[in-house]
Amino acid sequence: MPSPHLSIEAIRLPAFLYRPDGTILAVNDLAGVFAGRELAGCSAADAVRIFTHRRLDGTPLTPAELPDSRALAGEEVIEAPLAVTVADGRTLRILVTASPIREDGALAGALVLWQDVTGCTQAERELARYADDLRGSREQLGDVIEATGAGFYQIALERMEGTISRRGAEILGFATPEMPSLFEIMAEAQARMHPDDLQGVLGSFMTFVEAETERNEVEFRVRSLDGGWRWVQAISTSAKRNAAGRVVMLAGFLFDIDERKKAEAALRRSNEELQRFAYMASHDLQEPLRSLVSFSQLLERRYRGRLDSDADEYIAFIVEGGNRMQRLIEDLLRVSRVETTAKPLEPTNSTAVVADVERAMETSLREAGATLEAGDLPMVRADAAQLEQVFMNLIGNAIKYRHPDRPPAIRIAARRVGPMVQFAVQDNGIGIEPEYHDLSFEMFRRLHTHDEYEGTGIGLAVVLKIVERHGGKVWVESTPWEGSTFIFTLPAA
Ligand code: ADP
Repeated sequence: MPSPHLSIEAIRLPAFLYRPDGTILAVNDLAGVFAGRELAGCSAADAVRIFTHRRLDGTPLTPAELPDSRALAGEEVIEAPLAVTVADGRTLRILVTASPIREDGALAGALVLWQDVTGCTQAERELARYADDLRGSREQLGDVIEATGAGFYQIALERMEGTISRRGAEILGFATPEMPSLFEIMAEAQARMHPDDLQGVLGSFMTFVEAETERNEVEFRVRSLDGGWRWVQAISTSAKRNAAGRVVMLAGFLFDIDERKKAEAALRRSNEELQRFAYMASHDLQEPLRSLVSFSQLLERRYRGRLDSDADEYIAFIVEGGNRMQRLIEDLLRVSRVETTAKPLEPTNSTAVVADVERAMETSLREAGATLEAGDLPMVRADAAQLEQVFMNLIGNAIKYRHPDRPPAIRIAARRVGPMVQFAVQDNGIGIEPEYHDLSFEMFRRLHTHDEYEGTGIGLAVVLKIVERHGGKVWVESTPWEGSTFIFTLPAA
């Protein structure tokens, strides 16, 4: 027969075994650690002194109310929740189960088991609080997302489950107030997607799921309720990947970008039309203007001094006006040519480009007594002819807008900034007032009158157009009467 001590040790909860007279026969080790002393031989009344039992509202129990005593009186107590202060001073939440032990109908003792739920309830309470917080922030997040007009979706790819916000379904062209399941929506969205966009979207999505990209952005058209096409943008981020790097959970946003897309297309069309117009106008104007200028020059040469002095002056005005118009038209054509003669961007040696420009501008540099300093410049991805044009315009301006008291000193430098190369063309000229810094890049904008400096106000507009075509930026830093630095960025090669 197994000894009672052995059998009570087999119980995996703190256990107290009582004799019918109410003294303790045995406790297991799990119970012993709570007492901090030998319990065998103690009575239930002793146990009350060792462990302070209270109800959860804090009121104390009388010895008769103790589950141990009630079991000894023949009552079955199941999971009575009590706050018990143990020997080391901690108060634990215990579910006490106390059962009378009967032998042949007579009371042979009682077994009391403790289930320590202190940690559990704390964890449960914390869990409930987290769940509350989470629900709260989800609702808030949902409100914020709704307020942006974006739709939201979440897909668990392995479980083939997902959710989509009401706005998301709406953007995909669903008008139903009751929400279809995500996969109905996905199947339907595919069926409604513009056939020209479908393959691209699916391909890009598969690459995203398989490959290590953080984000997937697609734009596609879906058939809208009125039968037309509407542009939609979907941005997915990988919420979770498995060990093989496959996306298992993703979340993303849907945006209705129809108006933006249509505005972009309209802008593109109107830009193209404007460009065509500018090209045609300037091209077709060249011919009549050329004859106007050459005949007025002829008039000037043949009839100077043969008419009266007023006539000589008028003819000179016509010649000058004609020349100026020719320059304007040539510059206008140069602007249209930024697009029409554009070549693909290729690795370009900017040191060589600057050297070519220096050679081409040798005469004007020499006549102005200018110095040009350019160290070793990096390789960039550029259209070499256009890069030449940029340097030519900037160096040309540095010479033109030079300080009356000193010869132009021009310095060209470059440094790498992330994926771009930042060039700086610095001069010691007259400088530009701060309020004109941005304006100087506007087409036909001149900060100085025609009487002071020759020009059409096109040079910097061409620089801006070329740099933007390369995906770069251009700006000026300048102090009046000290000098200007024109800074632009181009993609590094
Ligand atoms: P343009 O030289 O034909 O007037 P740009 O477009 O080249 O046209 O320049 C626009 C204006 O910016 C110029 O009229 C001039 O006032 C100012 N500007 C350009 N470059 C410089 C410079 N290096 N120093 C001072 N002012 C400049």
